[in-house]
Amino acid sequence: MAEDCLFCKIIRGDIPADKLYEDDEVLAFRDIAPVAPVHFLVIPKKHISGPSGVTEEDDKVIGKMMRIGNHIAKEEGLEQFRLVLNNGAEAGQTVFHIHMHVIGGRSLNWPPG
Ligand code: 5GP
Ligand code: ZN
Repeated sequence: MAEDCLFCKIIRGDIPADKLYEDDEVLAFRDIAPVAPVHFLVIPKKHISGPSGVTEEDDKVIGKMMRIGNHIAKEEGLEQFRLVLNNGAEAGQTVFHIHMHVIGGRSLNWPPG
């Protein structure tokens, strides 16, 4: 837990979120500013600053994030979707608690701008 981290505050319940899944290791909730009809975030409850902060002890939870993301995507009616993890401000990271975006429900361009 990091005191001033927005997503740690959501984990603690200090800030409300539209939760889709929760267990003792992982939380998934809808993005407050969706960029597509379906846009939710999957985060570990452990505070990890971003993809480059992942260590060997995180192998299991990082894999679980993808499994849970797949499961919720299916529940949301998505067969096709994009997973995004931004690392660093230049890559578009604005919240420094690792999060996997799951985005779908419309066609998406590649490469990103
Ligand atoms: P990043 O740009 O760091 O990859 O993604 C951060 C995401 O968190 C953004 O898509 C942004 O809309 C979302 N976000 C920021 N603040 C909140 C919040 O208070 N609640 C929720 N549900 N999402 C948030
Ligand atoms: Zn955090």
